[in-house]
Amino acid sequence: MGFEEFGRVSYTSQTRVDRFVDRLHQGKVSGSQCKKCGSVYFPPRADCCGCLSSDMEWFDVMETGKLVSYSTLSYAPTGFEKDLPYTIALVRFDARVQVFGRLSKTIKPEEIAVGMDLLVSPVELPDGKIAYEFRRP
Ligand SMILES: [Zn+2]
Repeated sequence: MGFEEFGRVSYTSQTRVDRFVDRLHQGKVSGSQCKKCGSVYFPPRADCCGCLSSDMEWFDVMETGKLVSYSTLSYAPTGFEKDLPYTIALVRFDARVQVFGRLSKTIKPEEIAVGMDLLVSPVELPDGKIAYEFRRP
């Protein structure tokens, strides 16, 4: 479940991920697609693990997705305690794109339901970093 740490800890080193962050700052949540075989990746990859091509292009996750599953956490890894409680979720945007991330705290716990419509959008964090979260359309 390391990807939930994405917004704060783990997306610091690689050039391709820096471009992902650049795109967040432009208001876009993006994955990558292999130009050769069409495989889709979120989080984005620079190389296709299907056909080993490095000929990848970005796409933006713009449409409304559906909540597939979620879990509200009442404890967290070191460094995330101040965020508690928060809800992590898996949202399907189309047949190929599923995005894992956090639900906006503007969505009340009693409103969360599998199948609900959600958008994904960048969000500035209090510490000045940027991540993305799911919110109501
Ligand atoms: Zn490929």
